[in-house]
Amino acid sequence: MKPAPFDYTRPRHLAELLGTLVDGDVLLAGGQSLLPELNERKRSPRRLVDINGIGGLQRLDVRPDTVVLGALTRHQTLADSPEVRAAVPVLSCAAARVGHAAVRTRGTLGGSIANADPAAELPGIGVLLGASAQLRSPDSSRTVGVGELLHPRAIGEQEVIVAIELPRMTGRDGWGFREVSRPGAYAFPLVTVAATLRLAVDGTVSALRAAVTGAAPVPYALGDAAGELIGRRPDQEWFGVVADLLVGRADPVTDLYASAAYRRRLIRHLTHGVLADALQRAREAMS
Ligand SMILES: Cc1cc2nc3c(=O)[nH]c(=O)nc-3n(C[C@H](O)[C@H](O)[C@H](O)COP(=O)(O)OP(=O)(O)OC[C@H]3O[C@@H](n4cnc5c(N)ncnc54)[C@H](O)[C@@H]3O)c2cc1C
Repeated sequence: MKPAPFDYTRPRHLAELLGTLVDGDVLLAGGQSLLPELNERKRSPRRLVDINGIGGLQRLDVRPDTVVLGALTRHQTLADSPEVRAAVPVLSCAAARVGHAAVRTRGTLGGSIANADPAAELPGIGVLLGASAQLRSPDSSRTVGVGELLHPRAIGEQEVIVAIELPRMTGRDGWGFREVSRPGAYAFPLVTVAATLRLAVDGTVSALRAAVTGAAPVPYALGDAAGELIGRRPDQEWFGVVADLLVGRADPVTDLYASAAYRRRLIRHLTHGVLADALQRAREAMS
């Protein structure tokens, strides 16, 4: 099928974009989720507003404590950029796992967050690290946690994600990212688990983050539950407690591809793997 007819405009800078937006406009970024929806006529907007000509949405600023990425940063840039890899390696690793090369070349960070697929890798990393998003509309601007944007209608009709700010990881942060996808399918994974972990000099855990996608309507993190895991030795029993907490927060569905029970088993399996990866990296960083 082909899309229903639509008008098209391509502003050259942010002020022009904000000056042109009206209710009902749909932003076009990488088009990797939107264009299939147009082709299948799941959406028939009156006008597409192509944001690819706006240079300011492609920034990549590595600051002392944070990294600011323009909404148009492509998945492949996140995977390949030496600056991003050094500052937020878990993000680079996750970006390299998105779809296939063509999807990564066109697809954008802002588009992935706006699209808010429950299993998507990059929103999950935003939730893991407590990233925030900067949004602009013709008459307002706001900064909110990425996790808050992943709920239905969280982004206003005329709002544009301009940039994403993530905390910069330190050289002492070990990290892990693993996912399970359907074999041979260049599609969203079934479940992903990501973690970052830091060790104290006595070998106990001094900081821990973990997050899951594909097992609830929106990605979720360990959050405050991580507190009870700090100050303990990261042995197999400890891995099991982390996995129990993450499985306990899951609310998976059964669909054509996997049962809810299988998704829960994946969380447990992947959690052990990412914690082992994170622990190894944290130990290497200390030695
Ligand atoms: C074959 C295939 C496999 C894929 N596999 C994966 C996968 O494994 N993992 C994964 O995470 N994704 C996957 N994707 C989706 C891909 O990552 C998309 O790139 C992403 O979901 C949307 O980004 P985009 O830039 O293409 O956005 P678009 O498709 O252009 O837009 C998507 C939606 O976001 C809105 N939007 C875009 N940018 C902004 C902005 N700055 N502010 C506000 N709203 C905005 C648009 O209006 C639209 O509603 C796959 C896609 C395909 C076609």
